[in-house]
Amino acid sequence: MLDIRYIRDNGELLQRTADKKGIDVSIRELLELDVRRRRLRQEADELRRERNRLSEEIGRWLRSGEHNRGEEAKRTVNGMNERLDVCEKELEEVEAPYERLMQLVPNPVSEQTPDGRSDEDNVEIKRVGELPAFDFEPKDHVQLGEELGILDIPRAVKLAGTRNYALKGVGFHLHRAVQQLALDVLDKRGYVPMDVPMLARGEAFKHTGFFPLGRDQTFAIEGEDRYLIGTSEVSLVSYYANEIIDLTEPVRLAAASSCFRSEIGSAGRDVRGLYRVHQFAKVEQVVFCANDPELSERMLQEMTANAEEVLRLLELPYRVVSVCIGDMSQKTHKQYDIETWMPSRQAYGETHSSSNLHDFQARRANIRYRDNNGKLQYCHTLNNTAVATPRILIPLLENHQREDGSVYVPKALRPYMGGLEEIRAP
Ligand code: AMP
Repeated sequence: MLDIRYIRDNGELLQRTADKKGIDVSIRELLELDVRRRRLRQEADELRRERNRLSEEIGRWLRSGEHNRGEEAKRTVNGMNERLDVCEKELEEVEAPYERLMQLVPNPVSEQTPDGRSDEDNVEIKRVGELPAFDFEPKDHVQLGEELGILDIPRAVKLAGTRNYALKGVGFHLHRAVQQLALDVLDKRGYVPMDVPMLARGEAFKHTGFFPLGRDQTFAIEGEDRYLIGTSEVSLVSYYANEIIDLTEPVRLAAASSCFRSEIGSAGRDVRGLYRVHQFAKVEQVVFCANDPELSERMLQEMTANAEEVLRLLELPYRVVSVCIGDMSQKTHKQYDIETWMPSRQAYGETHSSSNLHDFQARRANIRYRDNNGKLQYCHTLNNTAVATPRILIPLLENHQREDGSVYVPKALRPYMGGLEEIRAP
């Protein structure tokens, strides 16, 4: 959510941003409602003030025997009460559409954000690592996983429907190992590890900008105002909702959680294997820092570097792209995606998403801090994936496969896998 004063001064920019981000909102309509709402509020305040003043005077006039004056003023107060009722009713009518539109206004994007319509317009910033050169016919992760006996998609689909998977034995250990590796990287870098609710109230989704627009991506608990999180960003950011926090230093948090997504709208896309599933695990980083664009930019670089460190330890080739406006969500101000090389796609596939939201979430969630002058300010919030699995198992299995069907285990993962150096079929 943005400050209405900012919206009044930047209507055109915000309408352009909404159009480019594909959000159906009329800033003009919002500003018209804002004018009506302000007029009605002002009139109601003035009526209340005048009514209170007159009511005091009426008592004085009646006590001092000025009955005519007192009676006339009573009639005026009655008229004011009637007008106040009308104002309050009209205000109620204006509040709901005003609130609805306020929830839809997008965060403006950074000056460095590329223009563009979709992920095809994202701009590559750097490439790291060598692409594998196989001198044999490489297998995709599904074939590798099945032949190694670590992945079972058909039985998972039998019990849970499409876009599900089961990991077994070494597959399970690999899934856990990448998460623990990522958590340990973050722990060493000062991120406080947390276990947080995976079922949260609707308000937490609204606070973080996932409702109303992401509502259809979210699984709801029937008959309750609680929903399964699609990312622990919802829980980590809402953790401080309606609080004043100490930001002498940025607050760095990390959580490992399951994530649940309906993936509505992606029918027919990425249907094979582990790329797009309904339930996955993610180690997420979240940062709260002072409302200083230079500082939050530094934090964005720090969080992106944390994710790159995880990929370095997994010995995987990747690239970093600057995400264009048309591929950004409502809440995002600046975003980098990290894409890891996936041989079966002969392409880099998105594995990490690093975002600076400026004060957009903090305003919605009412998270503030005192600046050096003691003034209350809304903070900046940021988030990034540290690792998301099983998607990361795609590049891990495919890039590290060998001709005999075994898979090399990167050195950094071995301590989490009982020292295992390679995965072989039983
Ligand atoms: P996001 O929170 O949407 O920025 O996604 C962060 C990361 O989570 C992505 O880069 C993927 O690695 C992973 N991810 C997102 N959606 C899915 C999904 N449906 N299935 C598997 N992994 C996903």
